[in-house]
Amino acid sequence: MGLVVQKYGGSSVADAEGIKRVAKRIVEAKKNGNQVVAVVSAMGDTTDELIDLAEQVSPIPAGRELDMLLTAGERISMALLAMAIKNLGHEAQSFTGSQAGVITDSVHNKARIIDVTPGRIRTSVDEGNIAIVAGFQGVSQDSKDITTLGRGGSDTTAVALAAALDADVCEIYTDVDGVFTADPRVVKKAKKIDWISFEDMLELAANGSKVLLHRCVEYARRYDIPIHVRSSFSGLKGTWVSSEPIEQGDKQVEQAIISGVAHDTSEAKITVVGVPDKPGEAAAIFRTIADAEINIDMIVQNVSAAATGLTDISFTLPKAEGRKAIDALEKNRSGIGFDSLRYDDQIGKISLVGAGMKTNPGVTADFFKALSDAGVNIELISTSEIRISVVTRKDDVNEAVRAVHTAFGLDSDSDEAVVYGGTGR
Ligand code: ADP
Ligand code: ASP
Ligand code: MG
Repeated sequence: MGLVVQKYGGSSVADAEGIKRVAKRIVEAKKNGNQVVAVVSAMGDTTDELIDLAEQVSPIPAGRELDMLLTAGERISMALLAMAIKNLGHEAQSFTGSQAGVITDSVHNKARIIDVTPGRIRTSVDEGNIAIVAGFQGVSQDSKDITTLGRGGSDTTAVALAAALDADVCEIYTDVDGVFTADPRVVKKAKKIDWISFEDMLELAANGSKVLLHRCVEYARRYDIPIHVRSSFSGLKGTWVSSEPIEQGDKQVEQAIISGVAHDTSEAKITVVGVPDKPGEAAAIFRTIADAEINIDMIVQNVSAAATGLTDISFTLPKAEGRKAIDALEKNRSGIGFDSLRYDDQIGKISLVGAGMKTNPGVTADFFKALSDAGVNIELISTSEIRISVVTRKDDVNEAVRAVHTAFGLDSDSDEAVVYGGTGR
């Protein structure tokens, strides 16, 4: 008998009908002779609605209390799902993240899992139950407070439980048929990928392909847990994310030169204007940002103006951290020494990802050519060995993604990619 960990995202359990549909699917897996652990997200857009509600009572809600509030979303779906499964004549028990042994650090709203002790889950499935676990949440080892793992964190819960339980497979069920060469909501001609390496998936996820959370992929790579991303609305095979290519029929799926195009409109740009061009300035700025526990993404420093010896430093960061970053820099203005700060949240990032880039020198030139043909202006550039990203105006992003997708021959000539549910929020 195998042990299967399945994760169902918010769009799969958006309403009572969705919960009943998912319950049937879980029972099928159990009937096939598996032990089943199902990780579940909050229903539909519940998490966003709870955040909106919190912001109505406090513009910057206290981290501890926000976590307490948000974890309620997953509790609702786990209990309803367990009820629906029992209604189908099977035994099920629901568990909070804390009960499931998901132990984290103490960083509220984006805690990291440091250990998983799934004793209660193991006992529950050994007794013949289907175990339902609330995703996205854990408990701090030090403070014993309830924590959340950051938006989309149920994916990480699933992979962490799969690793701790030594599961045979971790299935991530969502509202599209797998990982596509671009977001199917933006590119109708996106193609489903049969297999993608952890490395390429990590870059796609880190650069905005929210079909999988990047921390979940990091975790899966570290413990070598293959992930099968598929739709909870169709019976189709999805995408395998793993270290080695999968077999299909009698041949192996090949590593693509370009895996796909990711985009992200959740970042903002801060420009620190009038910084003295001397050693230690960048260190002072980014120490201030790091002390506020904010992760930054791209950085660019302008050439300093000869007359003044002053320069500008721009960097991008999640919009959600914008206020905090501005406040931290303002507080340290005299220590750092700068004239002013500019905040721009009308930016977007487009990234081309693929391991084949390493050995194909023309890729960067073709990427820029596609953007220029589409009339898209580039503001920032960053690269890694297997990725090239640019920042543009937010309004240009969708057009740019489609142009790049076509230019690299990624458009499918068959059916349009299906999005089964969800609001894309
Ligand atoms: P869930 O609620 O199941 O966690 P998410 O909304 O977090 O679902 O992730 C699924 C969504 O990810 C899809 O609806 C799609 O719009 C988006 N997405 C972005 N990039 C991709 C991609 N490359 N392949 C598939 N889906 C993508
Ligand atoms: N409900 C949480 C969110 O919306 C976690 C998740 O869905 O993975 O971010
Ligand atoms: Mg998700």
